[in-house]
Amino acid sequence: MSATARRILLADADAFYVAIARLIDPEGAGKSPLLIVGGSRESRGVVCSASYETRKFGVRSAMPTAQALKLCPQAMCVPVPRGACSRKSAEIRRVLQRFTPVVEGASIDEWYLDMGGTEQLYEHEPLERTAHRMRDAVRAETQLSVSIGGGTNKLVAKMAVEVAKPKPDNNATGVHIVAPGDEATFLKRFLLAEIPMVGPKFVVRLERAGLRTVNDVLEHQLPELIRWFGDREGQWLYDRVRGIDSGVVEGHGEQKSMSREETFSTDVADDTTLERELFALVARVASDLRTELLSARTIRVKIKDADFKIRQAGRTLTEAVVSDRVIYGVARELLHELRKRRRTPARLIGVALSGLATNPEPPQLALFADATASLETERDRAVARTVDSVRRKFGQDAIGAAQLSKHEDEQ
Ligand SMILES: [Mg+2]
Repeated sequence: MSATARRILLADADAFYVAIARLIDPEGAGKSPLLIVGGSRESRGVVCSASYETRKFGVRSAMPTAQALKLCPQAMCVPVPRGACSRKSAEIRRVLQRFTPVVEGASIDEWYLDMGGTEQLYEHEPLERTAHRMRDAVRAETQLSVSIGGGTNKLVAKMAVEVAKPKPDNNATGVHIVAPGDEATFLKRFLLAEIPMVGPKFVVRLERAGLRTVNDVLEHQLPELIRWFGDREGQWLYDRVRGIDSGVVEGHGEQKSMSREETFSTDVADDTTLERELFALVARVASDLRTELLSARTIRVKIKDADFKIRQAGRTLTEAVVSDRVIYGVARELLHELRKRRRTPARLIGVALSGLATNPEPPQLALFADATASLETERDRAVARTVDSVRRKFGQDAIGAAQLSKHEDEQ
């Protein structure tokens, strides 16, 4: 079996946002219990990430900041260090890509690696040994630590990384590899809620059927599960609890989407302010896109209204783009469409890029100098590259405001 077994790893950065905030400010953030806060620091903000010391007080991610500070008043609040996070994320990815070319970014701090075909290269060293070398290289070169889970598929790798993570109350080594053939046994220790994609609603339906743990499901045959949950979900559940997953690690260009969003401290009713926020988000997501050497064809804008209704609008362009100018141009039109349909103060705004591809081909039409709003020229791309290099030198916010006023002048 092991001759043909797949070799999949998941590298997951340990307390990513907290670790980066501490790298940036070793004297302040490095020495305090820490909350990384999204949106605003005021009462409407939420905790994106909480350091171990704050978790002892019951603080958790996604908790409102105000509630977290009640539980742990001595915590220091720091906004997400966005620029540093995307730079560090790209650095980690580059180290991982030296070990295998097939690296899929699952989020800003998680990467699946397909190690298939590297057996000769590493002289058949055990996967565990390779994972430890990878971990050492990431730490030496980025000052950040990753934990690595591994096995014959993505599901097992994802579950294994949770076991691998060193915590104050365990003696995990940072690497956990499940041997081929041991998947089903390994899965038996988990609750169903711990399986990826089993969300809170599914948990409720499972509990109604008396199912809480992986072992609970193993007592039932496939036809029974199908009767309860339908063909698709029944089969899915049957496979998952046995550690079966045929999903492939998608190479670099096949990352699904990139997005940025902002929750306001107070709801925003006025279009100019919304445009300004949208512009700042576009600048960030477009910079993420270029850092990853990707381009995007589809642009989507999302608004959450004050009454929590979520609305989206999107457009797919004929060519892949990378520049702030073109992406913002389309995003602003989408924002206007959404605002025309419903004029309610907005609580959140977001922008997402998808239809991602690597190494954008210079579009033929852009050779014609007079560019229309949704057509990207070589000049747009050159401007974008300059913006990136200035930001790398002077920080993420170095150009934002200046570009915004330039943009307004052009209208
Ligand atoms: Mg992580």
